[in-house]
Amino acid sequence: MNYKLSKEFALSLDAGDELRNYKDCFHIPLQKNGKQFIYFCGNSLGLQPKKTKEFINQELEDWADLGVEGHVNAKNPWLPYHEFLSKGFAKIVGAKQTEVVAMNTLTVNLHLMMVSFFRPTPERYKIIIESDAFPSDIYAVESQLNFHGLKPKECLIKLHPRVGESEIRTEDVYKIIEKEGDTVALIMLGGVNYYTGQVFNFKKITEFAHKKNIVVGFDLAHAAGNVSLELHNWQVDFAVWCSYKYLNSGPGSIAGAFIHEKHHNSNLPRFAGWWGHNKESRFDMPDNFLPIKTVEGWQLSNPPILSLAAIRASLDIFDEVGMDRLVAKSKIMIDYLMFLLNSIRTDRIEVITPESRGCQVSIRVIDANKKLFDQISRKGVIADWREPDVIRVAPVPLYNSFLDIFKFYNILIKLL
Ligand SMILES: *Cc1c(COP(=O)(O)O)cnc(C)c1O
Repeated sequence: MNYKLSKEFALSLDAGDELRNYKDCFHIPLQKNGKQFIYFCGNSLGLQPKKTKEFINQELEDWADLGVEGHVNAKNPWLPYHEFLSKGFAKIVGAKQTEVVAMNTLTVNLHLMMVSFFRPTPERYKIIIESDAFPSDIYAVESQLNFHGLKPKECLIKLHPRVGESEIRTEDVYKIIEKEGDTVALIMLGGVNYYTGQVFNFKKITEFAHKKNIVVGFDLAHAAGNVSLELHNWQVDFAVWCSYKYLNSGPGSIAGAFIHEKHHNSNLPRFAGWWGHNKESRFDMPDNFLPIKTVEGWQLSNPPILSLAAIRASLDIFDEVGMDRLVAKSKIMIDYLMFLLNSIRTDRIEVITPESRGCQVSIRVIDANKKLFDQISRKGVIADWREPDVIRVAPVPLYNSFLDIFKFYNILIKLL
C-alpha cells in the first residue's frame, strides 16, 4: 500500500477498516481532561471488554443464589466450566480442543510442563532459550536445571543476535542445534520475544529440533491473540500463555497450556492434582490417580471461575472476529506505523523490531534517555519503557485505530 503522512489518510484507513467498531466493545482509559488515552500497552495488560462485568456477575449471582449447587446447577455449571474455553483457546493457538486447557498462571504452567518435558539424562541435559528472554522464563528454566542438579552456567544455552543486529536469525538457531543438538534436551523460546517483538519461525525451528530429538516448547505470552499459530500442525510439544496481555482477560487472570496429543497417552511423569483425575471417578475420591487422557490430565486444582468468566467474555470477541482478520489488520497497522517512523529524520531513535513481528514495535532510544518516554506519556500515550533503552508500543487491532497511530507519530515528531 502507498501510505501517506496526512491525518486524512489515517482517517481513510479507519473508514476502510471492517474491525473499526470493535473498539466500542472495550473500556478505553481516560485522561484527566476526559480524552481517551492512546493505549499502546495491550502487550502488557489488555483492555477490559465491556461484557466482562456481565460474565463475572452471572457467576457471582449464581454463587449467591445457589451456593455449592452452582457446581452443577449454575447457568454455566462450574464443574465443567474450563471446558467452555477449550474451543476459543484451540482456535487462537491452532490446536485441537483436547490439546488446550485453562489452568494456573503462566510461570506455574511453564514449570509443570518442564516437569513432564524436561527429562535430562547424562547425555542430554541442556536447555536452549533466547538471550533476552523474559526474566520469569529464565528463572524458571534455571531453577529447573538446579532442581535436577545441573548448573545453569554449563547447561543453559542462550541464543544471541549477531553483533549489531537485534533479530535472532533462524539460521543461527539451526547452527546451535546442529552444534549442540545431541546434548540438548529442550528448546524453550518466547514465541514472540517480549523485548524486541521478534516472532520466531515456530514451524522451522520445531522441525529442525525434532530431527535432533529435542523437545520443543514455546512461551506464547506475547503470541497468543497476536499472531497466527498452528501448534498442532507444527508438532510443537508443549506451550503456555497468559490471558491478560493480548487476550484481554484481566490482571493476573488464569493462563493456558497446550500439550500435543501425541503425548497424551505417554507415561511422562507429572505433578498431579485431583482436577486432572478421570472425571467419572473424581468424586469417588479414589487414592489411585487416573489421569484424564487429554491435556486436562495436567490440571491440579479446581479453577477460579471468576477468572474463567473473564476469559470467556474475551474469547467471545476473538471468536467473532477470528485471528485471520485480526492478523490482517495488525499487519497493515504495523506497516503504517513503520512508514511513519521511517519518515522521521532523526538519529535519536531506531526501531529494533524485525520484519518478522506481530503488533509490537520496540523503539530504541539511542542515548538511553528515558525523558522521551516520559514526555510521550505526558501527552497521553500509554506505552512502556523497558530497561535499558526501549519504548515498546503495541497498537492492538481490536481496539486501536489508525488515527491512534497517526496521533502517536505526531506527538513523537514534535518531541524529536
Ligand atoms: C508476561 C510474561 C510472563 C509473566 O508471567 P506470569 O507467570 O503470568 O506472571 C512470563 N513470561 C513471558 C514471556 C511474558 O511475556
